[in-house]
Amino acid sequence: MILETSIEYLKGVGPQRAELFKRELNIHTFRDLLAYFPFRYVDKSHFVPIAQINSDTTYVLLKGHFTKIETIGVGAKARMVAHFADESGSIELVWFKGIKWLKDKFQFGKEYIIFGKPSLFNRSYNIPHPDVDLAEDEKVVKEAFHPLYNTSETMKNRGLNSKAISKVMQNLMIQVEHQIPEVLPPSIIAKYRLVSREKAFMDIHFPKNTEDLKRAQNRLKFEELFFLQLTILREKVHKHKTPGHVFTHVGDAFNRFYNENLPFQLTGAQQRVIKEIRKDLGNGIQMNRLLQGDVGSGKTLVALMCMLIAIDNGFQACIMAPTEILATQHYKSIAKFLQGLDIEVALLTGSTKTSERKIIHEDLQSGKLKILIGTHALIESAVVFQNLGLVVIDEQHRFGVEQRSKMWQKNKIPPHILVMTATPIPRTLAMTLYGDLDVSVIDELPPNRKPIQTFHRYDNARLNVFAFMRKQIEEGRQVYVIYPLINESDKLELKDLMDGYDSITREFPLPKFAVSIVHGQMKSDAKDYEMQRFAKGETQIMVATTVIEVGVDVPNASVMVIENAERFGLSQLHQLRGRVGRGASHSYCILMTKDKLSSDAIQRIGTMVRTSNGFEIAEADLKLRGPGDLQGTQQSGALDLKIADLVKDESIIRAARDTAMELIQRDPQFREPENIHIKTFFEQNRLKSYWAKIS
Ligand code: ADP
Ligand code: MG
Repeated sequence: MILETSIEYLKGVGPQRAELFKRELNIHTFRDLLAYFPFRYVDKSHFVPIAQINSDTTYVLLKGHFTKIETIGVGAKARMVAHFADESGSIELVWFKGIKWLKDKFQFGKEYIIFGKPSLFNRSYNIPHPDVDLAEDEKVVKEAFHPLYNTSETMKNRGLNSKAISKVMQNLMIQVEHQIPEVLPPSIIAKYRLVSREKAFMDIHFPKNTEDLKRAQNRLKFEELFFLQLTILREKVHKHKTPGHVFTHVGDAFNRFYNENLPFQLTGAQQRVIKEIRKDLGNGIQMNRLLQGDVGSGKTLVALMCMLIAIDNGFQACIMAPTEILATQHYKSIAKFLQGLDIEVALLTGSTKTSERKIIHEDLQSGKLKILIGTHALIESAVVFQNLGLVVIDEQHRFGVEQRSKMWQKNKIPPHILVMTATPIPRTLAMTLYGDLDVSVIDELPPNRKPIQTFHRYDNARLNVFAFMRKQIEEGRQVYVIYPLINESDKLELKDLMDGYDSITREFPLPKFAVSIVHGQMKSDAKDYEMQRFAKGETQIMVATTVIEVGVDVPNASVMVIENAERFGLSQLHQLRGRVGRGASHSYCILMTKDKLSSDAIQRIGTMVRTSNGFEIAEADLKLRGPGDLQGTQQSGALDLKIADLVKDESIIRAARDTAMELIQRDPQFREPENIHIKTFFEQNRLKSYWAKIS
C-alpha cells in the first residue's frame, strides 16, 4: 500500500531530510506525514475591512492605499510608519528595519494589498513588517489559504521550515490521490453528512475556504472520537461479562430504614441513582459504577441504602475511606442512621485495638457483622468476610486500581463495586474516560441548603476579615482558616502556617477564644484530637492545611477562609469550600490573595466567586488547565487526541459516542459488510496510536 512507503522516497525529501522527519517528528511513512496536520492556517482568501480588525484577528489581508509615510526617530531607533487606508478606516504599518530601501518604494494613488499580523499598541492596531504587494499583481490573492506546520529548530536550520513542509505535503497529495481508503460505513457518513476521508485529508492540509476546512476538521474529529469510543465500549462489553451476585430482594433492612429511620425525603437525584444501582445489582453481572456528586449532595446515604439491599440479600458490605477521620465520620453517621434497626456495624482502622480487631475478624467470618467501615486496614489479609457483596470506595482518586482489585480477589464471585467521588468530572471527559465504568450523577443538593457566599479579599483587608470572623464567632459559629501546603515536608510553607496560627491566636486570645491546628506532620492521634475538639465546638477556629479537604462534617462551621487562595487549583478550592454550608445558617467563603495575580489566578478566583456548581467549576478547570492535569486522566488515551478537543468538541463527542453505542449494539462483531473496515481496524489493532493504526 502506498501509504506504507518510506518518506525517503517522496519527491522533495530524500535520505537526509527523511532522517530529520524521523528523528524530529517521528514521521516515517507517507501515512505519518499525511496525519501531520497544520497547527494553523493563514487565510488569504478574502480582504478584511480595516475597521473589522479586533483582538481575535490573527493574520489579515487588506486592500487599500497609502495616505502618508513618515520616518520617526533617528539612527538605530528609527522606524518608518506608513498610514494605510481603505473605505472603512485606516491603520499604521510599521517598519523598524530596511527603512532606507523601503522609503521610496510605495506609491501614493496606487492600490496595494497588505498581509500581516495586527498587534495592539497604545490602544490602536498597527501591523509590523507586513508583506506589501501592488494590487495589480493578482498572484498574491490566488494563494488563498495556506497551512502552517510546526517544525523544530534543527529542522528550520536545515531548511525544513513550515513552507518547505507545505511543499513536501503538496507532493504527497499528488502521490496519494485516490489511495486514501474510506473507513467509516456509508450509513454513518450519510447520517452526519461527512466528507469522504480522502477529501478530508486533502482539505485539512490545503483548504480552499473556511467551509472546506471546517468540514475536513469535523470529519477527522468525528472519526478519531468514534474509534476511541468504539474501543472503550468494546472493552466495556467485554468487562461486563464478569458474573456478579444477584440482589433481587428488597427486605426488612431497606424497608425499615426507609420507613422508620430516614429523617428526610430523598432528593430526586438520589432516587434516580438508587434505581440505577438497583438495576445493576439485579442483573447477574458485577457492578462497577462511579457515583459522582458534589460535596454535600448526599452520596453517603445512597451508599448506605445500597448496602442495605446487599444485607437484605444475605450479604455483607463495606465502605473504604482514604483517611481515618473520614472513616470515623462515615461510621458515626451510619451508626446513627441505623439506630434501633439491629444491624451490626463496626469501624476498623489502623488504630483499632488488637482486642477489638479480634472480635471484628470473628464477627466478619461468622456473618454477624453486616457493615464494616474503615481505611486501608480493610484490605489486610486478616480481614476475611463471610460473604462480601458490596464494596463502597469513597473518594476514589486516593486509591489505586490495584487496591480495588485486591478487594475482588477475596471472593470467587467478586463483590459489586461502587466508587464515590466528589470531584466532579466534566461530562465530556467522563464520557471519554469512563466509557468503561458506568457513571451515576447526583446533580441536585438536598433542599434548604443556603448557598455559600464567596468573596475575594486582598491581604491588606485582613483586619476586616478578622472583624468578620469575630462577629460570626460571637453569633456562635465556627471558622476554618486554610493554608496551602502543597508539599507536606516544605518547611517554608509550614512556617506560613505557623505564622498564621500565631497571628490568629493573638487576634483571638484565650480564654474567650480557642484555636485548633491540624497539619500533615502531626501524629494521627494529635490530628484526631484537634479535629474532635473543633467538631465538638470546644474550639472556634480551625487553622489547617488541606488535610481537612475531604469529607469532614462540622455543620456549625460557617466561614471558610482560604489563605493564598491563588495557589490552589479550582477543584481544590471547591472541595474546601464544601466544608461549610452544611448547617442551617448562612455560610461564607473568603478567598485571600496577594495583590498581584496572574491572569490565570484571576480567572480561577473569579470562577469561584461566580458559581458554586461543581460541574461548572470542573468545566472551567478543564478549560484553564487542559485535561492533562485533571485527576485520573494521566494514563488515559484521551490525551493522545490529535485533532479533537475534549473541551470544544462536545457535540462531536456526543455524536461519536451515540453512533458507536448504536453500532456496538446492532453489530457487535462487525459482521455487516459495511462495517468491514471497522472490523479490519480492530483485527489489526496492534499499534498504540490511533492515527498510526487507521490510515
Ligand atoms: P456527600 O458525601 O455527598 O458530600 P453527605 O452524604 O455527607 O454528602 O451528605 C451531606 C449531609 O446532607 C449529611 O448530613 C446528610 O445526612 C444530609 N442529607 C443527605 N441526603 C439528604 C436529603 N435528601 N435531604 C436532606 N439532607 C440530606
Ligand atoms: Mg461524603
